[in-house]
Amino acid sequence: MSEPLVYLDNNATTRVDDRVVEAMVPLLNEQYGNPSSTHRFGAGVNAMLEEARGRVAGLIGARDSEIVFTSGGTEADNMALRGLLAARPSRRHVVISTVEHHAVFELAEQLEREGVEVSRVGVDREGRLDLDQLRDSIRDDTAAVAVMLANNETGVVFDVRAAAEIVHERGSRIHCDAVQAVGKIPVNVDDLGVDLLALSGHKIHGPKGAGALYVRRGTPLRPMMFGGHQERGRRGGTQNTAGIVGLGMACEIIAAQDAAEHERIRGMRDRLERDITQRFESSYVVGERAERLPNTACICFAGIEAEAALLLLSEANICVSSGAACSSGSLEPSHVLGAMGIEPRIAQGEIRISVSRYNTDSDVESLLSALPRVIEKLSVLTS
Ligand code: PLP
Repeated sequence: MSEPLVYLDNNATTRVDDRVVEAMVPLLNEQYGNPSSTHRFGAGVNAMLEEARGRVAGLIGARDSEIVFTSGGTEADNMALRGLLAARPSRRHVVISTVEHHAVFELAEQLEREGVEVSRVGVDREGRLDLDQLRDSIRDDTAAVAVMLANNETGVVFDVRAAAEIVHERGSRIHCDAVQAVGKIPVNVDDLGVDLLALSGHKIHGPKGAGALYVRRGTPLRPMMFGGHQERGRRGGTQNTAGIVGLGMACEIIAAQDAAEHERIRGMRDRLERDITQRFESSYVVGERAERLPNTACICFAGIEAEAALLLLSEANICVSSGAACSSGSLEPSHVLGAMGIEPRIAQGEIRISVSRYNTDSDVESLLSALPRVIEKLSVLTS
């Protein structure tokens, strides 16, 4: 019999809450109307969509009219940067941080191929954004600045509010990728002062393929997708009604989650970090001195190849991940740890453990008891 699943990879994706599934099912069977239809059948579905919009908006302190539904975080990031660039064609410069998720990082590389200039703002060894460098990077022709709220690998939280002040002082617009932050820390668009913000359903116990872009009223944004006039003309295409209703329910559940549950999650994460760093001299917690998400432990094991560790843990049915990835036979350390100045030999041993409300102390125990065998085995191989 195989071992029970120990899922500690919640920054990759999360288990869908049963209440979310329950909310979605009617949209997949009897409520199949098109929300744009004039008839009552379609209008009923539209009302459900608008209820979901209100729930998403409510969670982040936005107005309903400022929420555009998308297919997830990647589309929201693309829509934000491309939409700002297209709205002010004389501006051909974009600023991002060096540790953005691929959804922004690779988009920026594509924009460069299309003739847009990109500046990349660095972070310190703890992963904190260099605000002075940010200030110096913004130019008169900067169409957009994109900085994430919380890093998907390290969990380090940027001071986005300070970044937004700088961006606005310098006359540009700021997009915030909050995909990893929503549900884990409070996210309020007015407190952050951002113009745009991305979130994604599958990171918050909602469905995959459903997300949203918050667009502050008055922000110049050209649509990327043309067709019907859905989403107030900001994104053509019949909406993913089941996904959106599921996203709305996921947001509603988060809004009602009590502080004790967040503390329980933090407790599991802290215990993992404490026990692992005490046990393995070669290990350390990345970004430990920075403000971080309460669910994420990014731990480097010097001299270990993370991918091998992930495979051995996977044999015990334990799921964790790493930013270091195998490409063409060699282990590539993550761009995030590289930007933090962490040496490749250490960054190659990066293991990310991310906890959710579905985890229990027994999951923590399972990982803690499996890890010594794995690390010792790999240490012997590399010594
Ligand atoms: N931004 C961040 C910070 C993420 O962690 C992810 C997913 O890993 C995304 C964007 C992409 O979101 P999605 O999978 O919904 O496209």
